[in-house]
Amino acid sequence: MSKMKIRIYGDPVLRQVSEDVTEFDEELQKVTTEMVAAMIDNEGVGLAAPQVGILERFLVIGLPVEGDEDKRRIFVIINPEILEHSEESVIGEEGCLSLPDITEDVSRYNSIKVRFQDIFGEFHEIATEGYFARVIQHETDHLEGVLLVDRISPLKRSLLRGKLKRLREQQKEINVKA
Ligand SMILES: [Zn+2]
Repeated sequence: MSKMKIRIYGDPVLRQVSEDVTEFDEELQKVTTEMVAAMIDNEGVGLAAPQVGILERFLVIGLPVEGDEDKRRIFVIINPEILEHSEESVIGEEGCLSLPDITEDVSRYNSIKVRFQDIFGEFHEIATEGYFARVIQHETDHLEGVLLVDRISPLKRSLLRGKLKRLREQQKEINVKA
């Protein structure tokens, strides 16, 4: 099991804006490898650095491979920048490792063009749509301190008020114990 602790709603680190990565060193390789393990252990499809307490602009994604449940396509995305997006948005269900037991319909751009760096600092540009585009948008939101509960209607958020309050309170207890 991964030793990384995933930060839960109520932890102030999730609300901070992250800084660009400038050093593409062994430490970055180590941390992203640990994040991939933590993501898989926790059955997530994505994990952004702030979710493990690191305020830097990188994230990992493990896309399920159709027809093979045990396989994932792993992406390590550093300093992502969404360059273009479709006019059209689509609604889809999302969850978040920092918001346990919450799934909500969230509207996202259907397609995006994103520039990012890989683990060696090389630049890449990809155009993608659908589920992958959704996951990238969700994870890049984390780098701005934005969570999926910020992307739903005030009515839906008010319905979640009790659950969110419980998460915040559990968070306080964890911090007191730690
Ligand atoms: Zn998330």
